[in-house]
Amino acid sequence: MEVSKAYRDRRLVEKVAEAIRKEAPPQRLKIMHVCGTHEQVISHYGLRSLLPDNVEVIAGPGCPVCVVPAREIDEAVTLVLQRSEVMLTTFGDMYRVPGTHLSLAEARAQGGDVRIVYSVSDAVKLAEEHPSRQVVFFAIGFETTAPTTASEVFNGPPRNFSVLTSHRLIPPVMELLMGVAETYFDGFICPGHVATIIGTKPFKLFPEAYHMPTVIAGFEPLDIMVAVKHIVDQVARNEAYLVNEYKRMVKEQGNPRALRLLEEVFEVVDGYWRGIGRVPLSALRLKESYVEYDARAKFNVEVKASRDLKPGCSCHLILTGKLTPNECPLFDKACTPRTPQGPCMVSSEGTCNIWYRYRGYPQKYLR
Ligand code: SF4
Repeated sequence: MEVSKAYRDRRLVEKVAEAIRKEAPPQRLKIMHVCGTHEQVISHYGLRSLLPDNVEVIAGPGCPVCVVPAREIDEAVTLVLQRSEVMLTTFGDMYRVPGTHLSLAEARAQGGDVRIVYSVSDAVKLAEEHPSRQVVFFAIGFETTAPTTASEVFNGPPRNFSVLTSHRLIPPVMELLMGVAETYFDGFICPGHVATIIGTKPFKLFPEAYHMPTVIAGFEPLDIMVAVKHIVDQVARNEAYLVNEYKRMVKEQGNPRALRLLEEVFEVVDGYWRGIGRVPLSALRLKESYVEYDARAKFNVEVKASRDLKPGCSCHLILTGKLTPNECPLFDKACTPRTPQGPCMVSSEGTCNIWYRYRGYPQKYLR
């Protein structure tokens, strides 16, 4: 059997589920993942339905679009509406996420030149094609996408290109959740694609300093079920160590070239996360040596006070895994993908959006 097929093989997944049911300790266990793709796989394959009632997998702050604070969207909106020479480029997922007053889609409706791109290189290409315009790339994403931004900046794009940086780093926000007075979960499933870049070492902190069972997992149903099994086993034995379940992609040292690029172009600073607040050393800012490509320095955008959440929206609780979308009173009522009240319903990686899409048919392949 092909490797990719084996990782989706229903019998293998059910075998692991059976072992989890047999070996899970009697107490209630919560396992947090921090990745929109993991949530997508869990929901698509109905994996929660295979777990015993006392083992719950919850979603943490794993949607890179959802955690961009309203203030940074306001900066992009202000820039494109106030400076007629600016062409603002960003990923499609970011387009409809609400800022304090407007989303980028609404800014476009008001005349702002907002364009959706598939990659930072598309934005650089637009800058080459439109030398009289100022092309700004609104750069969002975790360690997985930041190296591509770094690579373009390092390669010396045209002078009419700049970056409005909103990149965030995953391990610092995981550590912030560890500091919550009463940690409300029992294990971490870490995103395999982030680990592909940064390696395994940054995730060792959680078992070693916080006695938190931690597994780096891939993106197939079997990967996730095996990760749950490792955590259940560690909790049952009162142990905590790091398991790299995604060895077929993740090396201990990560991707040295990508790490060198990140270090060359960015410095790590404190960052504000929507619904979560300030997270120490969790954001990337262009270094002084690349300031000519820093849209904040270039345009000196000023924004007034911002508001992250509309009244009644519980994205702050969704993003920290304290609530599931169906526990939000607005879910599938006032709040749907057509009428999103918060960022978690807009992005295809947002937990509310994923739960909305899979409601009613959560057990697609495996049952
Ligand atoms: S369902 Fe809508 S209102 Fe409720 S938390 Fe999610 S995005 Fe916010």
